[in-house]
Amino acid sequence: MNTLLMVIIALLLFIIILLLVAVSFLIYRYFKSVKKDPIRVESKYPQEVQAVIDQAKSNEETSSLFCVDHPDLHAKGECAFSHEHYCELCLAKEKNVKVARKYLNLLLDSNWESICIINDEETGADRLNELYRIKKELWHNEQIPLIAQRQFKINIESDQIEAYTMVETRVEDKEKMSEALSFLKN
Ligand SMILES: [Zn+2]
Repeated sequence: MNTLLMVIIALLLFIIILLLVAVSFLIYRYFKSVKKDPIRVESKYPQEVQAVIDQAKSNEETSSLFCVDHPDLHAKGECAFSHEHYCELCLAKEKNVKVARKYLNLLLDSNWESICIINDEETGADRLNELYRIKKELWHNEQIPLIAQRQFKINIESDQIEAYTMVETRVEDKEKMSEALSFLKN
């Protein structure tokens, strides 16, 4: 009788040890998976927009381009005026516009006015390319800066994310630019 009791106790102890091992294994697995998944900050943007932003960011991070002024440093982004690539040291961001630090005064000392906001899809790739071609040419030949910023809007009716490009010019260039970019408006 005594032996039977001893066997039962031993069996119970064995089961308890097994359970403990199983629980610690599960806890270990849980913490491992938590560590692998970096803490996700809730994005303020809709998923589709965040995906575009993430992609743009990763493109910058893995850029094989080098800074125009520091040939040994990887470029971190493009200047909104010149479209040249610059490293982190050379880029500045003000008023939501990223420009080469050397052109920062031009950005801050100018009065900017929006000349048009165009729907990218309705405008089409050809006209958008033409916009950027003219923009680069103006900067290159006449040092006239233009700002073309992409924006995303949610169309509530169709529940779609729509991309827009807002074009801004200095007040003194407005008339000339409106004419040069009139092809965008129809
Ligand atoms: Zn640089």
